[in-house]
Amino acid sequence: MGLVDTHCHLQSKRFHDDQEAAITASLERLDWLVVIGDDVPSSEAGLKLVREQVYAVVGVHPYYAKDMDDAMLARVRTLAGEPGVIGLGEMGLDYFNEYSPREDQARAFHMQLELACDLDLPIVIHNREADADCYAILSDYADRLKGCIMHCFGSPAEYAEKFVDLGFYISFAGNVTFAKAQQLRDAVAVVPLDRLLVETDAPYLAPVPVRGKRCEPWYVEHTAACIAALKGVDVDSFADQTTANAHRVYGLTQL
Ligand SMILES: [Zn+2]
Ligand SMILES: [Zn+2]
Repeated sequence: MGLVDTHCHLQSKRFHDDQEAAITASLERLDWLVVIGDDVPSSEAGLKLVREQVYAVVGVHPYYAKDMDDAMLARVRTLAGEPGVIGLGEMGLDYFNEYSPREDQARAFHMQLELACDLDLPIVIHNREADADCYAILSDYADRLKGCIMHCFGSPAEYAEKFVDLGFYISFAGNVTFAKAQQLRDAVAVVPLDRLLVETDAPYLAPVPVRGKRCEPWYVEHTAACIAALKGVDVDSFADQTTANAHRVYGLTQL
């Protein structure tokens, strides 16, 4: 089995000029990948990329939470029913970039969590500098959620353990490879292999040794190599394990 990029933004402007070439190059090396929405337009754009080996997740990022209303939620619900959509997100809380007031972030988060429970779809969580509130909200939903991915994990190891205890998956991006990211590597240490995922968050956060470039989904190979070494397992079995995890959490067991 090859690797999966469980989270990328191929509909980003930064792929505008060579989107198809970027997808083709990555699919030559990966089993499959997931294109994530930030708002309704980017979710719609992600849906257009769906094909064999490309799935979509649709939703509203906390950056845009202030715009969330019943009409927008209805739009997300409709998009969620389209072929190739395997989850809702990214949703959550971002207190580092507080582009929407915290009350709006919580409101949009709850609206999408209820939708995910209603539609029985797994969710992708964006949590930045909001550990306590994010944990409090999610722990109320844990029993009803189909599955949950803590994307681009950036919290202390203590929270990795707490989210694993809720039954969630922890997804690491390229920043785990950065020299100063010891906190992330400490978090890797406490996540069981059967709850680990890898992602790029492309076009952002290209891992070492390609740091600073536009991140391509297949660069997830570098992140996987880093984490496999930290875990003391060979890269092939790490790929098998994390890809099986991705199938499980996204409900693609038939693959
Ligand atoms: Zn995010
Ligand atoms: Zn993202």
